[in-house]
Amino acid sequence: MTLHIPFDNTYARLPSNAYTRLKPMPVKAPVLLRFNDALAADLGIILGEDEDMALAFSGNAIPDGADPLAQAYAGHQFGGFSPQLGDGRANLLGEVLNSAGQRFDIQLKGSGPTPYSRMGDGRAWLGPVLREYVVSEAMHALGIPTSRALAAVATGESVYRENGALPGAVLTRVASSHIRVGTFQFFAARRDVTSLQALFDYAVARHYPQADGPTAFLEAVIARQARLVAQWMGVGFIHGVMNTDNTTISGETIDYGPCAFMDVFHPDQVFSSIDAHGRYAYSNQPHVIVWNMAQLATCLVLLMPDADKAVEEFTRIVHAMPDLIQAEWRAVFGRKIGIAEATAEDDALIEGLLRAMAENRADFTNTFRALGTDKARDQFLDPKAYDAWEADWQARIAGEDTPEARMQAANPAFIARNHRIEQMIQAAVAGDYAPMERLLDVLSRPFEARDEAADLARPPEPSEVVRATFCG
Ligand code: AMP
Ligand code: MG
Ligand code: MG
Repeated sequence: MTLHIPFDNTYARLPSNAYTRLKPMPVKAPVLLRFNDALAADLGIILGEDEDMALAFSGNAIPDGADPLAQAYAGHQFGGFSPQLGDGRANLLGEVLNSAGQRFDIQLKGSGPTPYSRMGDGRAWLGPVLREYVVSEAMHALGIPTSRALAAVATGESVYRENGALPGAVLTRVASSHIRVGTFQFFAARRDVTSLQALFDYAVARHYPQADGPTAFLEAVIARQARLVAQWMGVGFIHGVMNTDNTTISGETIDYGPCAFMDVFHPDQVFSSIDAHGRYAYSNQPHVIVWNMAQLATCLVLLMPDADKAVEEFTRIVHAMPDLIQAEWRAVFGRKIGIAEATAEDDALIEGLLRAMAENRADFTNTFRALGTDKARDQFLDPKAYDAWEADWQARIAGEDTPEARMQAANPAFIARNHRIEQMIQAAVAGDYAPMERLLDVLSRPFEARDEAADLARPPEPSEVVRATFCG
């Protein structure tokens, strides 16, 4: 069989200042490390021989129908505006339409320098490629909107980072698009209203066909992002780089750099080595996403006939977002403690548990998974802190229908724990992919109790704790 990808490209028809058409830079010796057959089938991709797939998913061969380009965007990075960012190490091969009529980007990451690379080498090393592969697939299995991983290819070249020469790799990621808040900012910052309007029309058609103008579009993006961040909070996920260029219009998680799932719960937790001030700490995420949506709103004002009126209206919409996030958060955490329809009156109960967990160094995932049992109690330095909360909780859920079943469906047994990701990377660098395969298998069904995988549910030993994560 020969590899066939059913491309149907539309981004390449946007005004040409939205991207630079260019091919990936070939690599020395591409070898296919991992391929996601199930995802490929969903996309209508017909597989080829491993060698052909290695050529296509390293960028060494351009598959029929691809129209490779690097997307331009701008963005606020840690609050400071960069008018010129863009795919510095990525290539959009094109889009596919699956049989359900859904459109997806097929993008190579680590595929060589582009006009947007600035000081970067355009490459990625194996560690972050495998990290993104596993974590994005885990996120998908948790039911959280995200980019997906289609392939990982070794390049046979070295990549040089702080810690020396590392094996290079290319990741193929799939997303419902890579349009970011920063894509809107790119044109807005240039006061290029014609291109901004074209991007807007494109994004509406692709993601929110029911939106009849910038106001409805803003509301729709805000609704998706409010839900996404609440879902992250519900699994103890810290994105790590919530810059506006990493915030999608679709409401999907993208850009798995220094992200991490928490073990021990603490609201101020940060892992990213580049986040010195904790801007993107766990409990700041709901605030940051509001700020990012305000940046999108600022761009959209340029498309409105009456700017003063638009500012007033958009301000009202953005200011309503915290309540929206709170409602999503309440729904997520309500289900985690067995409540079908939590109300504002339940917030104190949820917050009480989180506070006791933080004060008692409880493991986030294992505490929720075991609520109502001694296993949860054992998570607390002072188990009496749990007992006090449990009495109130039992009283609250007494009237709930099947709270256990609801909790089992809302509280995963397995998350992509940092130390397991690090161990998986170290094994892969040494040529052993078995730990990665095992992680992918267990994390593909995270709500299923599996005794033989109990070691993967265990928090790290002190010697295994990962304190910082890197971009790669
Ligand atoms: P990120 O923090 O991963 O969202 O990346 C911010 C910007 O830096 C984006 O424009 C990336 O394309 C670019 N970038 C990150 N790493 C590299 C690299 N190794 N080479 C070129 N550009 C990079
Ligand atoms: Mg990025
Ligand atoms: Mg990144």
